[in-house]
Amino acid sequence: MQKQIGIIGLGKMGAGLAQQLSDKGWQVVGYNRSEDKTKSLSDVHGFVPTYSLNEFVTSLPAPRIIWLMVSAGSAVDETIEQLTALLKPGDTIIDGGNSYYKETIHRANTLTKKELRFLDAGVSGGPAGARNGACLMVGGLQDVFDELEELFKDISVKNGYAFFEGYGAGHFVKMVHNAIEYGMMQSIAEGFDIMRSVPDYKLDLLNVTSIYNHGSVIESRLTQWMEEAFQSFGTDLETIPGSAGQGGGGAGQVGNSEAEWTHQTAQELGIRDRVIAESLDARQYSRETPNYQGKIINALRNMFGGHSVTHPE
Ligand code: NAP
Repeated sequence: MQKQIGIIGLGKMGAGLAQQLSDKGWQVVGYNRSEDKTKSLSDVHGFVPTYSLNEFVTSLPAPRIIWLMVSAGSAVDETIEQLTALLKPGDTIIDGGNSYYKETIHRANTLTKKELRFLDAGVSGGPAGARNGACLMVGGLQDVFDELEELFKDISVKNGYAFFEGYGAGHFVKMVHNAIEYGMMQSIAEGFDIMRSVPDYKLDLLNVTSIYNHGSVIESRLTQWMEEAFQSFGTDLETIPGSAGQGGGGAGQVGNSEAEWTHQTAQELGIRDRVIAESLDARQYSRETPNYQGKIINALRNMFGGHSVTHPE
């Protein structure tokens, strides 16, 4: 396999992927809607900056491998529409964003009619994962995945990629992952809110995160990020807004976060999802009545996703 790839969308995630793949000997052709992000990577060894989609496509040898890392929703459709006019049969598009899986199925079917190949890849691990080794949930057709497996291996941590047959299956597994993350974060937020408010003790919450992170059953990346957030911002999280952000998707058809999409899916399947539904409600409540739990959600999102803590996204 030729180690040449094009990446469209050089934001927090795309820039990290471009740098990681360049480090691993790939030639990365990059394009971003706004030129400044492309320019800021131009010194990266092996990175080829391009400033139009036409220049981007002609800088890649056929059959092309193109990784999309733009905001979910209309940005993906707009980019694919402009791109497909320039591509040739046999080229492959991989959507690495948090797209809604039903939109992914529709896009894949449209692209295959044009003899273009498609894979969807849910990426977990945030910008640090994109830069240093991510966790990938890939969907699509087995033979296309097999051909490009080396790419997924290079982007992920050891054993950190898996394939699920069917267009949208990777995005579906990642969507549910993000909904689980919502529930886990909400549980952490509630627990620390309770410990902060109990009148019987004056608990040092940083000390609590520290002990939770040494051999406890709930020790996890999230509790580690909680500890780091308390170290960075203090346990009162004074500078953090109390209205929880949501994300990382764009505008989808049934809502605009993976947890909402998962909740919608649970309803369609007639499955009770009390925790996921409550975590959505809690975030909505925090936007109406900013509170400490919202601060915790924002602090955690900042730690793993690089999401703003001054203007929640
Ligand atoms: P980001 O830093 O906000 O970057 C968004 C990128 O999308 C930018 O390159 C932006 O270009 C581009 N974009 C937005 N609208 C566009 C449009 N209409 N046409 C063309 N390009 C457009 O976001 P990110 O964190 O890198 O996330 C990218 C994708 O990865 C999203 O789907 C997100 O859900 C997913 N994801 C994020 C994380 C995370 O922790 N951050 C983790 C896993 C997956 P401009 O620079 O021109 O605005």
